[in-house]
Amino acid sequence: MNLAERIVNIPPSATLAINAKAQELRSKGKKIISLAVGEPDFTPPKEVKEAMLQAVEQGYFRYLPVPGTLELRQAGARYFQHFYGVEAKATEIMFSNGGKQCLYNLFQVLLNPGDEVLLPAPYWVSYPPMIQLSGGIARVVPTRVEDNFKLKIEELEKQVSPRSKMLILNSPSNPTGITYTQEELEELASWAISKGLIVISDEVYDQLVYAPFKPASLASFWQEHKESVAIVNALSKSFAIPGLRIGFVLGAEKLIQAMTKLQGQSCSNICSIAQAGALAALQGDFSFLERERQSLQERRDLAWNFLTELGLKCPRPEGAFYLFPQVKDFFKGEIKNSTDLCAYLLEEAEVALVPGIAFGDDSCLRISYAVQQEVLREALNRIKQALTKLT
Ligand code: GLU
Repeated sequence: MNLAERIVNIPPSATLAINAKAQELRSKGKKIISLAVGEPDFTPPKEVKEAMLQAVEQGYFRYLPVPGTLELRQAGARYFQHFYGVEAKATEIMFSNGGKQCLYNLFQVLLNPGDEVLLPAPYWVSYPPMIQLSGGIARVVPTRVEDNFKLKIEELEKQVSPRSKMLILNSPSNPTGITYTQEELEELASWAISKGLIVISDEVYDQLVYAPFKPASLASFWQEHKESVAIVNALSKSFAIPGLRIGFVLGAEKLIQAMTKLQGQSCSNICSIAQAGALAALQGDFSFLERERQSLQERRDLAWNFLTELGLKCPRPEGAFYLFPQVKDFFKGEIKNSTDLCAYLLEEAEVALVPGIAFGDDSCLRISYAVQQEVLREALNRIKQALTKLT
């Protein structure tokens, strides 16, 4: 069978592939610890589970409106009101299957073949293939570990061209955890708008920031620039329900309508039972987030202190639950790059990590620390022992 070029020409998701590999090795009896996929280990708020059970009991199985029920979209609007004081209409909100489908829909409805997207690196694995699938071209804008992976306008200036259509911002960042302040976000977005670009702000980790940082968002900026900004968020990380696949977009009505048309021709509404759970999460008091933040901050401190004591160069993340240490000093002999080093660590330490190359930086690797502290400690000790053998 000859498959279409569009699918042959994209790689599989590295995060999901490594997670699957770790699961396969575990099923064969290996004591693998996976710090690969970005999946929080918390138990979600009980209201979410109760609402879903009730929905099942009540036979809530019919088709629903494609962008989500009115009630759910209103609850999505409440999110932006509650955290950022933004008055959004339900018609400016849409729900899709995770942040991923939100992004996929956005690229599909905004990019024409040949349109360029300014993509700061390190970037999350799925942006380039999604852009490619829409016919767009990713123009990677590098950042440096020495600058804490912060994006510089002078670097953006080097990559912007008459074909540029879009800038992607992702704060807190997957994979670096680097977080922009409100002022920094607005400065970058203002630059993009001055160049006539659309800004896609991927904010799926917006609530997972550590004191003294406060959640920041371009939602308030969106109010003044509705035609040029769209915000992506999701409940996967913040409410520890990644398998329910709940993502939402805040955008101009015209954009939401276009994405609704696309989703109506692809998968229709997201799962009705998941919508019931999402509604409970978004109508709640959000106290879950504070507990989650505190726990993740302790793990961040544990893991970051450990890595820096090992002598690894690793900017201290202010958000998300990833560390992105530079490991290129271990590239010697058989180990030539981040892929080889991750393969070595999987074999030798039985710890699964994601190579930096998947995020556009082969000198690093990604560690997800959203696991119990004792598991994290064990994994870090194993990594240390395996790395010591290489020196
Ligand atoms: N976004 C998470 C990660 O980067 C989940 C896996 C995925 O969708 O890529 O690990």
